[in-house]
Amino acid sequence: MRITNVETLILQHDMDVELGFAQGYYNKRTAHIIKVHTDAGITGIGEIFGAGNFAFANQAIVNHVIAPMLIGRNPLDINVIWHEVYNAMRDHGQKGMPISCLSGVDIALWDIMGKATDMPLHQLLGGKAREDFVVYGYGMMLQKRDDLASAFEQEVKSIVEMGYTASKMKLGLGVDGDRELAAAVRRGAGDGFKLMADSNHAYTVGEAIQLGQTLRDLAFYWFEEPVMPEDYNGYKAVRQALPGINIAGGEAEWTRFGHRELISRGCVDILQPEVATTGGISEVMKITAMAHAFGTPVIPHVWGSDILIAVDMHLVSVLPDIPGGLHQFQPMLEYDTTPNLFHEDLLTTPLSIPQQVRDNHGRAKPPEGPGIGIELNDAFVEKYRVG
Ligand SMILES: [Mg+2]
Repeated sequence: MRITNVETLILQHDMDVELGFAQGYYNKRTAHIIKVHTDAGITGIGEIFGAGNFAFANQAIVNHVIAPMLIGRNPLDINVIWHEVYNAMRDHGQKGMPISCLSGVDIALWDIMGKATDMPLHQLLGGKAREDFVVYGYGMMLQKRDDLASAFEQEVKSIVEMGYTASKMKLGLGVDGDRELAAAVRRGAGDGFKLMADSNHAYTVGEAIQLGQTLRDLAFYWFEEPVMPEDYNGYKAVRQALPGINIAGGEAEWTRFGHRELISRGCVDILQPEVATTGGISEVMKITAMAHAFGTPVIPHVWGSDILIAVDMHLVSVLPDIPGGLHQFQPMLEYDTTPNLFHEDLLTTPLSIPQQVRDNHGRAKPPEGPGIGIELNDAFVEKYRVG
C-alpha cells in the first residue's frame, strides 16, 4: 500500500454567541481535517489543532513541507515516517505549528492502519483498559456580560441536569473576578460535584497561588494551566504551594522532548497532552509511558471536532491504570457542551456523546469501527468548507 495524495480541508461556521477564554474571544468555529489517500482505496482521516488563520498556515505546511515527503510511502510505516518528518522539520520548529501538522498526519496514518487491519484504534493501541469512562462536560466559557457569575451558575446547573458527573469552567477575569466565578459555579453544581478550572496560562506564580487557594477551598479537582507553559519552575512553585488541589497542564507542550520537562521537573499532578498538537497518537503513547514512569497520571486534552473527540475516546479507553489496584485513578474525556456544529453533525454516525452521558450515568464508550471508527458526512463537509 502506498500513499497517493494528502489533502486538508478547513471548515468554519459562525457562532451565535461570542465565547472566550483567558487569551481572547472568538466567534467562529474551525475544524481542520486531513485526509491521507492510498492506492488501496483506504483513506485515513485526522485533524490538526489550530483555529482561524492558524488553520490556513498549517495547511500550507502540510501541502508544501510534509505532503511531498509522504507520497509513495507505505502508510503503515507510521513510526519511521514520524521520525523522518520530525527530523526534517527540526531546524524549523520543534514545537508549534509544524508539530501540529505532523500530529494530524500521524492520526490519519493510525486510521489507515485500523482500516487496513479491520481493527478499532483502541485494539491497535493494546486494548481497552476500561469499557467506558467519565465524560466531563466542559462549559462556562467567558462572555462579555456583567452577570457572568450568575450565568455560570445557571450553566453548570444545566450541565449537571444533562447527566454529566464532572465539569470544567474557564477563568481569566483576574484573581478577584475569577474567585467570584468559581464560587458561583460551585454554588450551581452543588457540593461533591467534580469541578475543574482552566486559566489558560494567564497568571503569574503569585496570582496563581492566590487563586489556587480559593479553588482548593471550593474543592475544585484541578487547576489547569495556571502559569505560562514555558515557566517550568513557576509550575513547580505553584504546585508546591498548593497541596490539596491537582495542578494540570500540557496542552501547550510538544512532543516527548517538551513533556519530558513538565514531567521530570515535577510541574504537574495531571498531564494533559493534546493529540492534535503534541505529535499525534504515536507521541501521546510515548509521552504517557514516560509520565507513568514518573508516577504522573495522564488525562488527554481535546479541543476539536468529533474526529478528535473520537480519537480521544480511544485514548481514554486504553490508558493503563496507574498505579494499579481496585479503585483506580480514572482518566476522563473532555467534551465541550457549548454550541458546536462540528459535534454530532460532522459524522455519518454521530458519537452521540450527550445521549450516552444521559443514558449511562455520565459515561461513554469509544467507537468500534475500524481505525478511529468514524465516517465524514461529505455533504456537511462541503457545506462548511472554506479552504
Ligand atoms: Mg485548557
